[in-house]
Amino acid sequence: MPALEDSIRFVKGIGPKKAALFEKLHIRTLRDALETYPRDYEDRTRITRIADLDEDGKYAIRAIVGSEPKTTHIRKGMTLVKCTIFDESGSLHVTYFNNPYAAALLRVGQEYLFYGRVQTNGRMRMLISPQSEKVSPDADHPGRIVPVYPLSAGLTQRDMARVTEAALDAVPGDWPDPLPEVLRARYDLPDAADALAAIHRPQTAQDVTEARRRMVFEELFLLCCGLQQLKERRKADAGLVFSDAALPDFFAALPFSPTGAQRRAIDEIAADCVSGKPMNRLVQGDVGSGKTIVAAALCALAAKSGCQAAFMAPTEILAAQHAETLAPLLERLGISCTLLTGSMSAPQKRAALAAIESGAAQVVIGTHALIQQGVTFHRLGAVVADEQHRFGVAQRAALSAKGQTPHVLVMSATPIPRTLALILYGDLDVSVLDEVPPGRQPVETYAVGENMRRRITAFIDKQIADGGQVYVVCPLVEEGEMHLKSAEQHALDLQKALPQRRVAVLHGRMKSAEKERVMQAFAAGEYDILVATTVIEVGVDVPNANLMVVEDADRFGLSQLHQLRGRVGRGTRQSYCIFFGADKGQTARERLKILCKTNDGFEVARADLAQRGPGDFFGRRQHGLPALHVADPIADLALMQKAREEAEAILLADPTLAGYPELRARVHRMFEERDDEAFN
Ligand code: ADP
Ligand code: MG
Repeated sequence: MPALEDSIRFVKGIGPKKAALFEKLHIRTLRDALETYPRDYEDRTRITRIADLDEDGKYAIRAIVGSEPKTTHIRKGMTLVKCTIFDESGSLHVTYFNNPYAAALLRVGQEYLFYGRVQTNGRMRMLISPQSEKVSPDADHPGRIVPVYPLSAGLTQRDMARVTEAALDAVPGDWPDPLPEVLRARYDLPDAADALAAIHRPQTAQDVTEARRRMVFEELFLLCCGLQQLKERRKADAGLVFSDAALPDFFAALPFSPTGAQRRAIDEIAADCVSGKPMNRLVQGDVGSGKTIVAAALCALAAKSGCQAAFMAPTEILAAQHAETLAPLLERLGISCTLLTGSMSAPQKRAALAAIESGAAQVVIGTHALIQQGVTFHRLGAVVADEQHRFGVAQRAALSAKGQTPHVLVMSATPIPRTLALILYGDLDVSVLDEVPPGRQPVETYAVGENMRRRITAFIDKQIADGGQVYVVCPLVEEGEMHLKSAEQHALDLQKALPQRRVAVLHGRMKSAEKERVMQAFAAGEYDILVATTVIEVGVDVPNANLMVVEDADRFGLSQLHQLRGRVGRGTRQSYCIFFGADKGQTARERLKILCKTNDGFEVARADLAQRGPGDFFGRRQHGLPALHVADPIADLALMQKAREEAEAILLADPTLAGYPELRARVHRMFEERDDEAFN
């Protein structure tokens, strides 16, 4: 009997050549094949009568071949085979392109189950290159649910079916199930072996639904168990013990009084830092909710406790801006601040590195450069990662490794539903900034089309006349996209339309120092209009800017647009946001309308999630968690919640999962697949 660890090369009909193609799909062993789920199913159980064919699309048709298949050669090397088929309701033309073999199998007078695309050309309706299987006249042929697997070039669904068939055969009778039996019973889930069989060889559509439900539960349950264990393991480490004595001075040094939410978050951070356990906390808050000073509080506590703090921003501009706002605040408390970025001159860099190594630099602000080799900290005690979705878990871990289990604070401006946050950030404690500083007015948002161009240009002019400043954001133009305007071109056009206004341009290909100069000049009010690619998306702060115009807004994700909008509405002046692109079709218009209706980042994120689909959100790149194969965060939200609760309950009773060897092994494997060290 074959074993699951056997190579698929030994499956009948596969051999070394095809096995090499399977390698491209990461399928080497029968087990790999077993764990490669269909990406879709074709439901051939629902048979449509020829007379009932409706819109063009895929159909299962049970019919008899009525005419001998005729082959014609239409062009060099191209063949066309045609015949007709009929059932009791009517007849239909069948056409095979370049597939004489399939057609040659058909016999006049024989009944088949056909499955394929029905297409209408003019008044002629055809079934195109269908698959067919013989049906005996008296059999009540049920058709099948046919799984559709991801393929790579050179492989067919039939090859895939061969290896999954062999893999299912190799599943032993005592197949271990990672889900405890009580949970299967409680949520009415099929056991592991049945679910696998149903995923690969379903009898009914209901089979697929039930099996999928189990897979989703299993996947999330394993994920939650793993993250929870990670969190607990970290808590077992000894953390640096900070003093919170500096807090009153910190609050007194702020130029404003903190919001209730900020105070709460800072208190939670302070409590973590004095606890003797390493902090791993996420601060989640909408754009403009004031995350920066929350992080500054942590830096102050670290410095006043004899440690260094590293503050990482996703871009150099942002790092420079943070340095500019934080340095005066912290220096008032007698804390020294140092900026370290890749674009600094060699002597500047050398001086900064020396100060970091000696400990003279108490708070270090920078970008990824902070975690590159060559930066040695004297005594790193706290790490802040701003805009977390750009810093992977791996990067966080690399930075942590530079100190002795420093306290870690990550800040995210992409608010997501709480249930999801508790799963995605299952290894972190979460503080939420659900309050914006007082005096803010919601940003008035409009989605417009090209027909509004002149009025918007006039509106830009008026805002500047009233003392405001304007951002204009253009998407990154890729090669070949002639219909889109680049930031440079757009800036020229605007300058021509508004000759008396001072227009600056900022784009990704400029040198860092130049970008910084432009940004600072804009912040200082030396320019009226800043035309930019999305380099300004993450967090720059120019309170006097009160109008944001986004060109080709349909090219951006909703959450991204919400982030952009967050660049205005920071002062007390009424702010506006205008999205061009509402004339690019109904989908574009409806998406943009969501932003016109709400200023709430959580709501935007929910809509974004629903529209982009789970792939983007659960994509490994964004959050650095193990890739999920089946779970869909919207459709499966309720099930997710249950999976998390059950994971918590089981770990509370049995923290090492000693009583659940299979579960334990599977959690381990799930986190082993990761290519970084964070979970080891
Ligand atoms: P976020 O990073 O959450 O988007 P920031 O930390 O950049 O937000 O803060 C946005 C703006 O609000 C900044 O200009 C900041 O100085 C200001 N701000 C922060 N907290 C308060 C507060 N409690 N009261 C008044 N203004 C505040
Ligand atoms: Mg910020």
